[in-house]
Amino acid sequence: MEILSVISNRHDEMIDITGAVQSIISKQGIRSGICMIYTPHTTAAITINENADPSVVNDIITGLNHLNFEKIQFKHAEGNSPSHIKSSIIGCSELVCIEKGILQLGTWQGIYFCEFDGPRSRNVYIKIIHSE
Ligand code: ZN
Repeated sequence: MEILSVISNRHDEMIDITGAVQSIISKQGIRSGICMIYTPHTTAAITINENADPSVVNDIITGLNHLNFEKIQFKHAEGNSPSHIKSSIIGCSELVCIEKGILQLGTWQGIYFCEFDGPRSRNVYIKIIHSE
């Protein structure tokens, strides 16, 4: 397993990690298999979405923040329940097929680390299952 370090700069932020994940696959010389991208944090997430128009990921954050969390009386003492909820809505992992050494993403797709309680230093685990 490889660990990718990600540093977020804002409270809510989506960071494109496609290139970094592809670099790990290329470095390991994997031609065919499955790549798991997983983040071990309860207020962060991993997703795949459009990386052509940067407005899309900004709109995802705007949409999540439109859920009116301010009006809810949460019990979690840390005060970051909205961050935990966003993490669970998006999910903490993705799987992508690898063929001919390349992540099989769609033309407009990128892999994103989603920060919901930043800025922080975070980890993303990359585990590749090799196949023929
Ligand atoms: Zn918390």
